[in-house]
Amino acid sequence: METPSLRIALQKSGRLTEKSIALLQNIGLVFDTYKDHLLISCRNYPIELLFVRDDDIPEYVQDGVCDLGFVGANVVAERKASVTTLKALEYGYCRLCLAVPKESKVTHFSQLSGKRIATSYPHLTESFFASHQLPIEVVELSGSVEIAPKLDIADGICDLVSTGSTLKANGLRELETIFNSQTLLIQTQKVISNHKQDLIQKLLIRINGQQQAQNSRYIMMNAPAASLERIKAIVPALKSPTVLPLADPNMIAVHSVIPIARFWEVMEELRDTGASGIVILPIENMID
Ligand code: ATP
Ligand code: MG
Repeated sequence: METPSLRIALQKSGRLTEKSIALLQNIGLVFDTYKDHLLISCRNYPIELLFVRDDDIPEYVQDGVCDLGFVGANVVAERKASVTTLKALEYGYCRLCLAVPKESKVTHFSQLSGKRIATSYPHLTESFFASHQLPIEVVELSGSVEIAPKLDIADGICDLVSTGSTLKANGLRELETIFNSQTLLIQTQKVISNHKQDLIQKLLIRINGQQQAQNSRYIMMNAPAASLERIKAIVPALKSPTVLPLADPNMIAVHSVIPIARFWEVMEELRDTGASGIVILPIENMID
């Protein structure tokens, strides 16, 4: 029997938990404290959250136990789960990478042929070497992979890194990135009701708005009226910028939205047009 609520799988406790919860709260979902509870209901939307180990999320979604899941692309790929990716969520960035002890003679991954590689990602590691026709011996460990070469149970490792500082701290040197990852919103491929499908579409609109808002800033400035055309060319507004008259007839106020990626570029170019009193504000949410 299908549950009437959308059921979403989230990591119970780990690197993705806080940001996944924050995303759901930012799109207006209200739920009581989730700590100590495995399954909680949202108060203002027909959603249930199921908190589990991240390794189990792809299977729960694949089997239709949950309709949606928030989980790293690395886990989905390692588990070879048959699920649909709805959206990349732009957090939990990391990469699966090969590393060797810094004093090792190995400078290219091909020199690891026939060697022992410790990893918690046996499938992704084996597939990478197989795709280069290189045989290796996988030493599967569930954690603390970076210690394996020191214990002489492996010649190299394949592990998740974000900055690479943990590798360095353990006397390891990066060789090659084999997989780039971020958190994904995944959906089951099992048939779900139209009602649930509608709920998912609505959720997606909210998430898209949230992402767009996070990647944008509201910008306000005063400028000589004569500079308007130049300013318009620099600030690509969503549709067209708001232009307001000021007490001084030669001056105007311009309001618009800019993508955060172009922030400094836009600021520098605006200064050259005579714009002043430039104010930048965060945007709570945005619907196109
Ligand atoms: P669980 O108890 O749920 O199995 P875990 O120990 O497997 O937890 P975490 O260490 O909390 O998992 O990492 C969860 C996810 O966070 C990873 O699968 C990956 O997608 C992402 N991540 C981002 N940065 C890193 C990083 N530096 N190291 C490991 N994972 C990272
Ligand atoms: Mg895990």
